[in-house]
Amino acid sequence: MSFKAVLVHRCSSSSLNEGKFFECTCQHRVTRARARKLVSDGHADWMRRQDDSENLNQIILIPRHWVPAATIAKGHIERAYIENRAPERERIEVYGETH
Ligand SMILES: [Zn+2]
Repeated sequence: MSFKAVLVHRCSSSSLNEGKFFECTCQHRVTRARARKLVSDGHADWMRRQDDSENLNQIILIPRHWVPAATIAKGHIERAYIENRAPERERIEVYGETH
């Protein structure tokens, strides 16, 4: 298991990605590789610093990818894995890691 260096934000203040420090209790962490994948797949953005550079130690989950538990039904999960539908599988994995 590699070191989980990147903090994942899913707090309400994450809609304001303007380089401000988030006063929140988010503690979920993922590896740098995992964070990069989440960003490249459109599930998250890198935290911005005040000079608009990327803070690679924190990512912010994009709210539209949060899914209520009820929407991940058994059939949904099976379909994602059996048909190897990567975007759905990714969504389920994101859900599992952040809740
Ligand atoms: Zn947070």
